[in-house]
Formats: sequence, structure tokens, C-alpha cells
Amino acid sequence: MATYGIDLGTTYSCVARVDDTGHAEIIKNAVGDDTTPSVVYFETADSVIVGKDAKANAQLQPDNVVSLIKRQMGKDIEITVHGQRHTPESISALILRELARAAEEIGGEPVRDVVITVPAYFGVAEREATRKAGAIAGLNVLSIVDEPVAAALHYDAISAGGTKTLFVYDLGGGTFDTTVIQVSPAEIKVVCTDGDHQLGGANWDDRIVDFLLETFQQEHPEADGAATSEEFLQELAAAAEEMKKQLSSQQARRFNARYEGAVSKIELTREKFDEITADLLERTRKITERTIATAAEQGVTTFDEVLLVGGSSRMPAVEAMLKGMGFSPRKHDPDLAVAKGAAQYALIESIKVRLPDEDDGTTPGTAVEEIADQLNIPVEKVRALAGKRVATVVPRAFGIKVVDFDERNNEVFSIAHVLKANTSLPARTEPTRFATAYPDQVEIQVEVWEQSGSVESDDLADNAQIADGTISGLPRLPKGSPIDVTFEMELDGLLRVHAVELKTNKDLHIELQIKGGLSDEQVDEFRTAVARYSVSA
Ligand code: AMP
Repeated sequence: MATYGIDLGTTYSCVARVDDTGHAEIIKNAVGDDTTPSVVYFETADSVIVGKDAKANAQLQPDNVVSLIKRQMGKDIEITVHGQRHTPESISALILRELARAAEEIGGEPVRDVVITVPAYFGVAEREATRKAGAIAGLNVLSIVDEPVAAALHYDAISAGGTKTLFVYDLGGGTFDTTVIQVSPAEIKVVCTDGDHQLGGANWDDRIVDFLLETFQQEHPEADGAATSEEFLQELAAAAEEMKKQLSSQQARRFNARYEGAVSKIELTREKFDEITADLLERTRKITERTIATAAEQGVTTFDEVLLVGGSSRMPAVEAMLKGMGFSPRKHDPDLAVAKGAAQYALIESIKVRLPDEDDGTTPGTAVEEIADQLNIPVEKVRALAGKRVATVVPRAFGIKVVDFDERNNEVFSIAHVLKANTSLPARTEPTRFATAYPDQVEIQVEVWEQSGSVESDDLADNAQIADGTISGLPRLPKGSPIDVTFEMELDGLLRVHAVELKTNKDLHIELQIKGGLSDEQVDEFRTAVARYSVSA
């Protein structure tokens, strides 16, 4: 049975698998497109439409259509449609169900084992939410892989081999990330990663909507209901994305805006478009510069390739900006590279789970041959893939909440980061010394927090609590009793925190519970609820 790579994008999603010749191929969706809008239209209480038609319906029934759900992944929010309670996980599961259903129909075999991609800077909660979305959709999620790692795997698969340092500039529909990554025959190694998950093509669309609306209102001040008409705004939104895409190859586009009999013929030139979105592009430049600086701290100062990934990297202004920074960027199958690389990764994972242990070239030939036979790929390829390591980094800083006291003895809370972003995985920190804050403490609460902003900051508001635990049953400890805290993160992102109270030498492992995530029971409930829907394109 084949394994599949799924690029679950903010605005578009895509499915690929590796074919008999070892090449990744895109599996077209039910309407024959390579990518499917990540939009869910709740047509009735038990029927759901995903994709192009859902997107078209967004104009007519905005209350029954959910878009950009990826931006909510990992958040503890609820969305009710037709009286049914949903979460970001269950909405994403509906998208995954349609992607899998269509791939089954086209590919002629069940889709079960999958790898799903996430932005590199997705934190623990978002990754866990993505994994659960897969489970709710009834899929077996072999692994979650970073989008730039997938893009690099695809690069590796189609290039001549050798060792290369890549800078991946990935501007998708709703997210932006930059990653420095080294590929070699033996491994794919992330050097550092950065990004902004509230920045993507949709922001560029919004600017066009604002421009169209303002121009329309200037010409028709009497049409004062236009700005609040959901239908009119949705129409502008659809037109905006189309205009934006066309402006990638043309110099000017026109749109006829109509509202209650008032009509405006509005022209948008590429120059004007670049002007009204310059600050957005500038945000990507800042992050690009920051990434280059982080890579330099780790000794990486030159890049063999600057790869453009993500549909929005087709905007000419992106290439121009990077050229201005002295790079020679290259478009790298912008819409499809991530899904194709995910398919390669799925193949690697499926080989690794079949092989007895990490293959060091000594696995009996018969076992490898058997796998080669099962997967219908050459034996040498199985060996090469089985030996390929994927080394990623800690996506964001982790730490614990600490208390200090100001001059009036008021408590001041902050986050002390222990495990820093961009540390190579698997990671294990040295013990970091903390101390009890109050006299006579008989228990110590340890709250684990994760950086939520794009840069490390000790402010609570820039971090999110992801777990907590209590060391209890201690004798009355004097204030300032030492505690050592160690963080460990596995390759798959699993986080372990270990705290030792040094006076009693009590050694305590803290059970780590992801805050805000769905419980196993909730995943089961949603799986049943989502399975009840009839899902189509
Ligand atoms: P992705 O998430 O990588 O599929 O990126 C989708 C985003 O790319 C959406 O915001 C699209 O509007 C945008 N996009 C796709 N094609 C183009 C194009 N030719 N020019 C500009 N933006 C595009």
C-alpha cells in the first residue's frame, strides 16, 4: 500500500505519492486540479463540501463557510455551524477526509498511511492538533514533517545529489517561513528556522480588497452600505485573489465593482499593488535578515540555492527583493514542492518502520529486497532512503514561569527560557538552576511555557503555557532552595521536563500535558462526528 504526503495548507492543500519510478507525483483532486482550496462549506447539517465550490460559496453563505483554519490550529476555540460544535482539528479533518477520498478515487487504492506537513515554527500544540486532525479524519499519521524539510527533500530528490546549503523562502497563503537547511546524501539538517504565521498571500489579498473598496467608495459615496455588505466584500475578496495572481504575469488588471446599481471600473497596476503591499514584503525581508543572522551565528554564511516555495512567492516583488539582497532566487515548484517532498518523507518513514532497526547497511539483503518488492522500488533506493536522517531543530524556545519581586514586594512573573529555539534535535539541556521563591514551600509548581511570538521574549504575553506539574510532599523548604530543571526534546518534537529539588534530592519527572489540546476521548468523538458527514468536492 502506498504512503501519501499531504501539504495541509492555510489556503490550498495538496496530496502526492511516490510512483513506481521513485518520483513524487501529485494526485489531482476530484475536479482535476493539483491543489484544493482549504475551505469547508457546511451545506447542510450532515453534508460538507471542500474545495473550489466551497470557496465559491463563501460569497453567498459566509456563516456556513470556514476558511484559513490553519491559523487557528493549536488554539482552544470552538466554531458552531448548523448547531454542530467544531474545533480547528475537526474542520481540518474534514479537509483531510476530502483530500483522502479524492486521492482514493483517483489512485484506486485506500489512503491510510500519511505524512502531513506543518510550518517549521509550528509549536507543540499546533503539531499535536495537526496530528489529531489526521486521526479524526481516520488516517494513520506516520509523521508530521516541516514544510521546508519537505521542500528540501523534494529538491534533493530531483537534484544531482551532493551537499548543498539551501535557504528556503516559503510564502504561502497564510503563513511565511524561512529556513536554512543542509542536504547531503546522508541527511537533511535544519540549521535554523523563523517565520510569521499571520503573514501570507491572504494579507496581500486583503490589501487589494481595501484598495477596491476605497476606490469604489470614493466614486460612489452614496453607496454607504457597501463596506458592511458581506456579499459585496466576499465578491471583492474573490476578485482580489484573482487580480493578484494575474498581476504576477501582467502589468495591470481591471475589476468591475457593482453594488446596488452603482458600478466602478477599477484598475490596479502592478506598481500600485507593490506600493500598497510594500510593508508586507518588508516584513518578510526582516525575517529573512534575521534568519541569515541566526545561520551566521551557527557558522553558515553562504547559500548554494535560495529556493522560492509557496504560491505567493510567484509575486515578482518577492524575487526582486531577494535579488536586491544579493541572492539569485529560484522558483522551486512553488505550489507542489511541499506535498512532493512529504511523499518522499512518507516513503522514508514507511521503510524505516519496516526495517528491524536503523539500517547501517548490514540489514540482510532479503529484508531490504522484500521491502523493495512491497514498495515496488529498487533495492539501492530502499537502502539510500532508509539511511537518510532528517535532523531538525527546536522550533521555538521553551522555559518555565518564574516569579520575582519588585521594590514594593509585588510579584512579577516572567518566563525563563531553558531550551532555546534552533537547538539541534534531539536536544537535552544542561540542568538550569532555579530557586524557591517563598519561605516554607512544601510544594513547587512548575509551569512549562513555549514562546508564542516570533522572537524570544520573557514577557508572559509573548509565551503560551503548554503544561504544568507539581512537586509535592516536600518538607518546609527555606526560600531560595535550589531546583534544577532540564528540558529534553526528541526528534519528533516530544518534550520532557525534569525537575530536581536539590535540598531533599527528590528527583521528579513532570508529566507533560499539552494544554488546550483535544483528549483521546474527544478525538474519538470528533472522529465519529466527522465520519457522519457526507464529504465531497
Ligand atoms: P500555498 O499555500 O503555497 O498553496 O500558497 C497559496 C497562495 O499563493 C495563495 O495566497 C494564492 O493566492 C497565492 N498564489 C498562487 N498563485 C499565485 C500567483 N501566480 N501569484 C501570486 N500569488 C499566487
